[in-house]
Amino acid sequence: SSSGNGFPNVRRKPVIIIVVGMAGSGKTTLMHRLVAHTHIKNIRGYVMNLDPAVMTLPYASNIDIRDTVKYKEVMKQFNLGPNGGILTSMNLFATKFNEVISMIERRADQLDYVLVDTPGQIEIFTWSASGAIITEAFASTFPTVVAYVVDTPRSEDPTTFMSNMLYACSILYKTRLPLILTFNKVDVAAHQFALEWMEDFEAFQTAASSDQSYTSTLTQSLSLVLDEFYNNLKSVGVSAVSGAGMEAFFKVVEASADEYMNTY
Ligand code: GDP
Ligand code: MG
Repeated sequence: SSSGNGFPNVRRKPVIIIVVGMAGSGKTTLMHRLVAHTHIKNIRGYVMNLDPAVMTLPYASNIDIRDTVKYKEVMKQFNLGPNGGILTSMNLFATKFNEVISMIERRADQLDYVLVDTPGQIEIFTWSASGAIITEAFASTFPTVVAYVVDTPRSEDPTTFMSNMLYACSILYKTRLPLILTFNKVDVAAHQFALEWMEDFEAFQTAASSDQSYTSTLTQSLSLVLDEFYNNLKSVGVSAVSGAGMEAFFKVVEASADEYMNTY
């Protein structure tokens, strides 16, 4: 089928779901839950791990950067620290990424989704050349969406919420891909407050004004900027631990993939 995204060869399936978020937001646990959900529901998916430094994963992956690049050896060989090791490993993997794309293309008829886990430190993926190369390779071949995982309980603090939203905003404008604000850990704190703050910036400003570190003019102008940003994205509440919101998550992914096909 044709698409409006300027990439004439993009077909509707599989949908690539790139999972990003601050360290500790629950990306890996959520991946595990999403994989379990796809098994139960007979949804056909691939699982990809792009974190070269992860020791053990709770889920089985079909494509794993660790099979191609040995992070510890890269660190030794190039005399690098942990972050440099991860970055260089990703660079090495990015040079072979066309093989990964070809492999997914060969299986495309049997796949609904490819779930992609990214390195623990978010900026290593979102602000590196290799992260951009990998993202673009996906997005020029398949409908690609970004699931930005938010630690909901931690974001009840207005300042943390604002920083998190600004980061998500920067990813939206950098990747130009549909972004799904995925409020995780709703078993600990419901994400209703976030929806209210996104809906009504005055409600957010009221919450922020009770914060000691509140800098009123900056926060007010930023919340106006974010107001426009919120109009451009979808959100969903999930719990990687309880399994809440899995159906809703995949619904939002489908809507985002449609958006990708129609408007990008
Ligand atoms: P990552 O660094 O983003 O990959 O985060 P992890 O998946 O390693 O999770 C970080 C911590 O948050 C772990 O202790 C998880 O058990 C916990 N966690 C992840 N998802 C949830 C959730 O939905 N609810 C609760 N209560 N804890 C969670
Ligand atoms: Mg992780």
